[in-house]
Amino acid sequence: MKRREFIKNTTLSSAGLALGTSLASCNNVPGEVDKNTSTAISSEAPTIPVVLATWHVEAATTKAMEILENGGSALDAVEQGCKIEEANEKGQSVGKGGLPDRDGHVTLDACIMDQNGNCGAVVYLKDITHAVSVARKVMEETPHVMLAGEGARQFAIEQGFKPEDLLTEASKEAWNKWKVEAKYKPIINIENHDTIGMLTIDKQGNISGACTTSGLAYKMAGRVGDSPIIGSGLFVDNEIGAAVATGLGEEVVKTVGSFLVVELMRQGKTPQQACEEAIRRIVDKPNSNYNNFQVGYIAVNKRGETGCYSIHQYFSMTKFQNGKNEQIQSDFFNKEA
Ligand code: ASP
Repeated sequence: MKRREFIKNTTLSSAGLALGTSLASCNNVPGEVDKNTSTAISSEAPTIPVVLATWHVEAATTKAMEILENGGSALDAVEQGCKIEEANEKGQSVGKGGLPDRDGHVTLDACIMDQNGNCGAVVYLKDITHAVSVARKVMEETPHVMLAGEGARQFAIEQGFKPEDLLTEASKEAWNKWKVEAKYKPIINIENHDTIGMLTIDKQGNISGACTTSGLAYKMAGRVGDSPIIGSGLFVDNEIGAAVATGLGEEVVKTVGSFLVVELMRQGKTPQQACEEAIRRIVDKPNSNYNNFQVGYIAVNKRGETGCYSIHQYFSMTKFQNGKNEQIQSDFFNKEA
């Protein structure tokens, strides 16, 4: 089942079971009680290396872990892991095959951040599948943090990336269907988003993260969300931990979500508590219309403890740790639905 269908399919009594997902907790702090299952969390201490990613992306986490197990860096692992999903044409939210904007253009946003606080990002990138690798080139080959639009595209081509048409037949068909009504909702629906965010810790204990997306489906031309914005879509602090977001980018930006999660961990919260508090900052706002959109966070701290939380049901993360590569259903705020 594709991630989009998964989110849409609210009739499943237990999406976790339907997908064969684990009922294991996002939270892996030994001794705490998992609020999702009301059971005690295993006493198996979390280990490094670790890879975690938003959604069901086992091929991507497998690739990243392979690199880490072979002694590779967290940065290489996170880039190579994200590239798996960017190249997957069936995923209509990332890289090639991403759903276009309302005018039919696929435009990608991505960022990457390493253990030294270096970062790079691209926004509104056309024609290049591996936006995450272009973001890494921005980080490593330029004095800048972010390149946009045609400048980013030209830079990518100069760096040897091959331009190609990212609009696949399937995404074109979906766009044509959307055009029949062409309802543009500035507020994201629960079903029309997805982003691959990945966090890794290597054998040396260094942390890196990356985030890559085609953004909100049928967005206004020029619209950029949280995903390429350091601090919003992604933040890494090698002393503390890292966090990455998915969902309605506008809401994540307004609360500088990923930076917030990391700062909450700095103040002593576990990754799980930090993700929950960051979601609370969104839903507790006066006049928050959170019923109309989804936001989810995943986080890891320096010890390899993890957390994830979302506003609505059906958010999940994939975690490769202690030799297990599992999809984990996230606990969520809105239990009223
Ligand atoms: N956060 C992304 C954006 O707003 C979309 C998503 O995660 O689905 O562009």
